[in-house]
Amino acid sequence: MNNAKAQILALREQLERYNEQYYIADAPTVPDSEYDRLMRELIALEQANPELLDASSPSQKVGGAPVSAFPEVRHALPMLSLDNVFSEEELAAFEKRLMSRLGRTTAVEFCCEPKLDGLAVSLLYEEGELVQAATRGDGSTGEGITENVRTIKAIPLKLKGDDWPPRLEVRGEVFMPSAGFAAMNEAARAKGDKVFANPRNAAAGSLRQLDSRITAKRPLSFYCYGVGLVEGAPLADSHFDTLQRLKGWGLPVSPEVKRMQGREGCERYHQDILRRRDQLAYEIDGVVYKVDELALQEQLGFVARAPRWATAHKFPAQEELTELLNVEFQV
Ligand code: NAD
Repeated sequence: MNNAKAQILALREQLERYNEQYYIADAPTVPDSEYDRLMRELIALEQANPELLDASSPSQKVGGAPVSAFPEVRHALPMLSLDNVFSEEELAAFEKRLMSRLGRTTAVEFCCEPKLDGLAVSLLYEEGELVQAATRGDGSTGEGITENVRTIKAIPLKLKGDDWPPRLEVRGEVFMPSAGFAAMNEAARAKGDKVFANPRNAAAGSLRQLDSRITAKRPLSFYCYGVGLVEGAPLADSHFDTLQRLKGWGLPVSPEVKRMQGREGCERYHQDILRRRDQLAYEIDGVVYKVDELALQEQLGFVARAPRWATAHKFPAQEELTELLNVEFQV
């Protein structure tokens, strides 16, 4: 018991340190696969020793505290994280849990999306105009980055049409396309400046700048993947149709977003995107499956840090991926 407690405390401390480097300083010191491995170890230990569970554990929290240099923005609805699965077996278990909670025997439909590797943002539109943008921060409070977001060309300052709700919060990912990332690092190297470790950190570092003129020079882009607060009637009955409405107002939605039936459909989607991963213009670290029907999402609800109705299916880290593909080609 004492041993488990000591292990849990050590893992929490280590993960807190990594969180700070990743979320606050935009400068991780370990690969995501290592972070994910330690997090799973912590979750397994906490599940085996429920009396040691603690709401302040990194396993129960979202992101990192907002930095005080930016104005604080309270999210009307929390911005959560995603649970994840790493294998077909874990995906099957995810579907089984869903079906049993919903008391269903027939497969549900999922909205399948690429898991963009950038930074989550919340965009508030009032009467069709962008009035506020914020980071996720710790999930309840984010950093106000409105001026920086205004410099991103993919994000409309004014929505098209006139049938949008008076207040609409759009959520999505700001990311740096691979070509822009390579060119930016190349230019930095030529000048002897610091280079970014990967496009995710480059996007986060570029967006969380105190001077929006610096952000404006960075090749940032954006796809939306959901909504937060919507004043008035819901936009649609399903997540997929919600995204289509956003698209109609000029908000970019990834062309890779597709509706698929049950776990088999998700698995096919995963294989297809994994195969084409290197041809995409941006980095992704997996795909996301979301129960498509909003009434079912509501029935399923949330746990501490993530919705029960969605999961990320993470791709193997690149070095692990090479091994996996080699094995696949041999059979
Ligand atoms: P996450 O990456 O596990 O999942 C949630 C995030 O996915 C959302 O906030 C959103 O930004 C993003 N996302 C991308 N596409 C999406 C889509 N289509 N729909 C919904 N969300 C989408 O996020 P997290 O909670 O920020 O971070 C945990 C992960 O971050 C870890 O698993 C690890 O890989 C990495 N991390 C690494 C370190 C490190 O030191 N290397 C430290 C902390 C976190």
